[in-house]
Amino acid sequence: MPQAQETVLEIDLKALEYNYQLLRSKLKPTTKFMAVVKAFGYGSDAILVAKHLEKLGVEYFAVAYAKEGIALRDAGIKTPILVLHPQPVNFKRIIQHCLEPSLYNARVLKAFIAVAEAEEQKEYTVHIKFNTGLNRLGFWENDVDFIVGKLKSTSSIKAASIFSHLAASEDLNEKEFTKNQINNFRKIALEFEQKIGYKPMLHQLNTSGVLNYSEEAQYDMVRCGIGLYGFGNDEFFTSQLKNVFNLKSVISQIHMIEPNESVGYNRAFRAPHFMKTATIPIGHADGIHRALGNQKGAVAIKGKKAPMIGNICMDMIMVDITKIDCKEGDEVIIFDTQEAINDLAKSANTISYEVLTAISQRVNRIVK
Ligand SMILES: *Cc1c(COP(=O)(O)O)cnc(C)c1O
Repeated sequence: MPQAQETVLEIDLKALEYNYQLLRSKLKPTTKFMAVVKAFGYGSDAILVAKHLEKLGVEYFAVAYAKEGIALRDAGIKTPILVLHPQPVNFKRIIQHCLEPSLYNARVLKAFIAVAEAEEQKEYTVHIKFNTGLNRLGFWENDVDFIVGKLKSTSSIKAASIFSHLAASEDLNEKEFTKNQINNFRKIALEFEQKIGYKPMLHQLNTSGVLNYSEEAQYDMVRCGIGLYGFGNDEFFTSQLKNVFNLKSVISQIHMIEPNESVGYNRAFRAPHFMKTATIPIGHADGIHRALGNQKGAVAIKGKKAPMIGNICMDMIMVDITKIDCKEGDEVIIFDTQEAINDLAKSANTISYEVLTAISQRVNRIVK
C-alpha cells in the first residue's frame, strides 16, 4: 500500500475472507451462514463487504434497518437480506426491495400482514423473532398460538425461519443462563413446528455463540458479525482471526512548543518541557472518541507511540512526537492490528464493536 496522504480506512478483504472461512470451518457443511453487515458493515463498508461475501457464497445477509437493506439492493446484492429491526413505516419499501423482515411482536406482525395483503403478496418471506432472555426484541414463548393463528389466517406471508438471540454468549460465567435460552428456544421451535405444520429454519447463534455453543445450538443457520471483522470473544480466538481495518492518516503540521505553553481547546494540555507536537486530520467527528484525549489514546508514527494530548477536537487531534523523528506529510497509523483496536477500546472504556462502528462516513474507505 502506498503511504496515506489523508485519513483513510483500508479494508482488507483478504482478511475478511480468511475470517469467513475460519468461522465456516467451525460449522457443519450444511449450516447456512448469515453475514451481518449492519451499521455499514461494522464500520467498514457494507457494500464492499457484501459484494465480496456474496461471491464467496454466503447464504444470507442481515442488517438492522430497512434503509441498510435498500442500500445493498441498490448496489446489486441479490442474496436474501434479513432486516432485524424494521418499522412498519418502511414495510412497503421492504417488499419493494425484496427484503425479509424480522417480525418481533403483535404490532409489527399485524402491520406487515396488512401491507403484504394490500400489496397482493403470496407467501412473502418473513422471519419470526423470539425473546428468550435478552429482553430486547421478540415474541414471548406463550405467543406461539397467536402467531400461528395469524400465519394460518393469511396466505400473504410465510415464516421462513424462527430465531432468537443470546444475551451473554461470550461470557462463560453465564453458561447456565445461556443453556437455558438455548433450551427455551428449542422448546418454542418444537411447539411452533407442530402447530404450523412445517419446519422453518432455526437460528440462534452470533459469533460468540458459534465459538461457544455450536454443538448444542447450531441449527440451520448462524448469524456472524464481529468475527468476520476480526474479533472473537477472547484473545485466543481473536489471534486466530485476521485484522480487517487499517485506519491511517497523515501529519498536517508540526509545532515546537515551549515549556508552559498549552495545546488545544480549554488549554487542557500544558507542556511540562520543550516539546514537538503533530496535528492529525482526524477528530471526534471521525470516530476518535473524546475520552481518548489527554494521553488516554495514542497513534503510531514511524513505529513509535505518539500519545494524544489535550482535548480531541471535532476534526483533528494533536499528538506528542517529541521523541519521534518525523516530518509533515508522514503517515500516521491510528490502528492496523486488532490489539491496537482493543487498546483504543479499553482506553475509551468501550468495546471493539464501538470503535469500529464509530468510524464516520467522512473517512474514505479503500480496499487494501
Ligand atoms: C448484531 C447481531 C448479530 C451479530 O452479532 P456478532 O456478535 O457481531 O456476531 C447477530 N444477531 C443479531 C440479532 C444481531 O443483532
